[in-house]
Amino acid sequence: MRGEPLALLGNTQGLDILSIAVRPERFPMVASDSPLAEGTLLSGALWSLDGFIEGWIEIASGKVGAVGFGVPPRSPDHEGWIVPPWVDGHTHLGDRGLRGSPQAERADLATLVAPPNGVKHRYLTTTPRSDLVEQAARFLSECCAGGTGWIWDFRESALQGQQILWDALAAGGQAPYVHAYYRPEAFAGTSDYGSLPTVPAAVRSRTEIAGVHLSSVSDHSPEELDSFRRWAAHLGAPVALHFCEGHAEPLSQLEILRPVRVIHLTHADRASIRAVRRLGSTVVLCVRSNARFGIAPDLRPILEEGIRPMLGTDNAFLHEPVFAEEVGAFLRLAARQGLDPHLAWRAIDVGWNDQVRAGSLPWEVGAPAQVQLYPQWSEDFVDDLLQGTGPSPKLGPFRPLVVSDGTATPVVSPT
Ligand SMILES: [Zn+2]
Repeated sequence: MRGEPLALLGNTQGLDILSIAVRPERFPMVASDSPLAEGTLLSGALWSLDGFIEGWIEIASGKVGAVGFGVPPRSPDHEGWIVPPWVDGHTHLGDRGLRGSPQAERADLATLVAPPNGVKHRYLTTTPRSDLVEQAARFLSECCAGGTGWIWDFRESALQGQQILWDALAAGGQAPYVHAYYRPEAFAGTSDYGSLPTVPAAVRSRTEIAGVHLSSVSDHSPEELDSFRRWAAHLGAPVALHFCEGHAEPLSQLEILRPVRVIHLTHADRASIRAVRRLGSTVVLCVRSNARFGIAPDLRPILEEGIRPMLGTDNAFLHEPVFAEEVGAFLRLAARQGLDPHLAWRAIDVGWNDQVRAGSLPWEVGAPAQVQLYPQWSEDFVDDLLQGTGPSPKLGPFRPLVVSDGTATPVVSPT
């Protein structure tokens, strides 16, 4: 998304979160099976476009029954930071079953994920379908336990990959809303990879096909890229791709594809970053995934060019999709690179700005109770994110105490 460049090095006055542009992408509601307990009262610091405000939310019939500022009307059931569900900008839910496998722990980036013979692609083609569905459902419930309400997922294995997601959703467990990017099976230089699959009616309220994706421009010949572009244009399907992850990649090929969503930019030079901004592509950074492979995006040029990145947890096998951990890792990276983590927090797009009008809260009476609550250790949400996440948290795990399904203290992700 676009925004005005941030003065990261100078005076921080005047940086106003209200100036963040609204992305044109849709954010349908989260599907939730079990609403928060009737009458649950949450109190604490409510997130707003203008910063956190003391207030409270009362739940009624799985919806926001009442919301107010200041002292709550009675003793609250839970207190803490009150924020909307997170939006995870990049996932691969299909490879959840590889988590913890010795092979996946040891392999380098190319060995793991490069199609068609990477470790994960062999896993996807050799694992029984029922196991893939079960693992996908487990990943989706992990997202919810971590407070995530929406994910943008790269589906592999063409139609079979879509159907695994649909079966996982149809099983009826907790799941975020899934924006799925479809990937055709083979790149044979044809300009017709078929039409996009139709989402079954049974899960249409829980997922959509947001567009098409390819892993990276380096995995394909220029002819294949061109045929992919013509196919996507014919379908009117937006393109998403990883770009400059393990190494720098040609800008010319990016400009041919004109992706709406670009993941990583870990080896992007200033010219590539500017090109991405000119294209208006949504940038998604996945710093925990990058760290696994010993790489990191250079945040200063990305933020200085006015890009408001989303964050993504990337491959499901790498770690749990606990989004607060992702934000904490991003903020620590910003600090290591000499940036103010508070400015870095305000520079990222966690998806919430689209859900509110200026001067209002993201919760309205009568709307679904989409809310999560975090422990409040300090006066500063960013400080709590920094201190309470990561490999050696100082204060304890910074995980939601309450999420939109109403599960109370603490939410433990399934293993
Ligand atoms: Zn990825």
